[in-house]
Amino acid sequence: MSCYRGKYADELIANAAYIGTPGKGILAADESTGTIGKRLSSINVENVESNRRALRELLFTTPGALQYLSGVILFEETLYQKTAAGKPFVDVMKEGGVLPGIKVDKGTVELAGTNGETTTQGLDGLAQRCQQYYAAGARFAKWRAVLKIGPNEPSQLAINENANGLARYAIICQENGLVPIVEPEILVDGPHSIDKCADVTERVLAACYKALNDHHVLLEGTLLKPNMVTPGSEAPKVAPEVIAEYTVRALQRTMPAAVPAVVFLSGGQSEEEATVNLNAMNKLKTKKPWSLSFSFGRALQQSTLKAWSGKEENVPKAQAAFLARCKANSEATLGTYQGGGALSEGASESLHVKDYKY
Ligand code: 13P
Repeated sequence: MSCYRGKYADELIANAAYIGTPGKGILAADESTGTIGKRLSSINVENVESNRRALRELLFTTPGALQYLSGVILFEETLYQKTAAGKPFVDVMKEGGVLPGIKVDKGTVELAGTNGETTTQGLDGLAQRCQQYYAAGARFAKWRAVLKIGPNEPSQLAINENANGLARYAIICQENGLVPIVEPEILVDGPHSIDKCADVTERVLAACYKALNDHHVLLEGTLLKPNMVTPGSEAPKVAPEVIAEYTVRALQRTMPAAVPAVVFLSGGQSEEEATVNLNAMNKLKTKKPWSLSFSFGRALQQSTLKAWSGKEENVPKAQAAFLARCKANSEATLGTYQGGGALSEGASESLHVKDYKY
């Protein structure tokens, strides 16, 4: 009954700790081909390989941005892509001190007999895929489990099934050298209160850590990617200080101190909201044995996408927007963000999408 102590143990611990370095965080750029298509269509850009590559190159080569990042999560296609000048993206990241990560789940399917609840697929062949991704330079992985809040949701079945799936994924990643990001996302959809979100978040995280322990996962070599504890998307908003207090308390109650870092998802918050909420958590004076950082997708890319609009001549403007968000979130991990990152167009806009698929 001991946790993973195989040949990658020291490397997993070192990489997980590195990703959690205060002042740095993760860019989630692992949108599947379908999801990136929706983003591109919002700026009237065709969803073809060359445009997906161009967007990712713009992000990864933004002058000065990589100093604020410790990891970038990629979709499989992007792991093997290169800059227009022929340099593999993985090398661009390594030179910038950023670890490449990889999305390894294969999306969700409905759990029969539930009210639209889901489980995440992708365990078949996962060990072999992890070996290939490690050989290509990836050092961490992401698996997104999705839960929802409703009158009777999440069901115990959905909680158990998703916790177990995350734990199986996590130990397979560790056996093959990848730090697993454990992501049980509780969707913001609905009219529920922040208290309800806190209750559900605590139940889900407690189940996840029970499963991770049962599966002998080396917690020091993992990261947690949770939702922040907030009211539902159809409920009145609350102050960042309230979100910070509820979120940190939920983590204190459920998350072992052995895990080095929490890297929050943005979950449809505007760019500025996500930054301000993270900053409020890092300003909070209370027990926090882990670093609190970001692994934002939408909240790091929205104003950049708008500024770019698929036009070569807009690349400098788009990169300036991306740099501003990276710097703002870096400051938020230290609790020193003073505001002002909202100046770029789109930074205050809600990015909520009902029943979001990644
Ligand atoms: P958002 O920050 O857009 O919620 O996405 C983060 C992510 O990687 C979800 O799996």
